[in-house]
Amino acid sequence: MEKPKKIAKERIKKLFDLAEQEAKKEKWEKSRRYVELARRIAMKFNISISRYKRKFCKKCNTYFTSKTVRVRTQKKDMRVTYTCLVCGNIQRYPYIKEKLKRKA
Ligand SMILES: [Zn+2]
Repeated sequence: MEKPKKIAKERIKKLFDLAEQEAKKEKWEKSRRYVELARRIAMKFNISISRYKRKFCKKCNTYFTSKTVRVRTQKKDMRVTYTCLVCGNIQRYPYIKEKLKRKA
């Protein structure tokens, strides 16, 4: 019964891998297409892609590399902000515990 969903999950993983590879080669258009496709499949099959959510821009689908994102930690409100350097979109996430430990 769960087979289509399983296949979809595998495809999503593969698409994010491809997006990463293309992003590393600075093939941004291709990379974006893969992210877009992965998100579309996730939506269709109602699959959570939260494990990938810090890896791409929700607004323009750019896969994040050191060239496409600026990461800032804001100790004050315990948040990390990811600024997409392509479209300027800002995504905020809670501070990760490991990072706190490293500082201590
Ligand atoms: Zn963006």
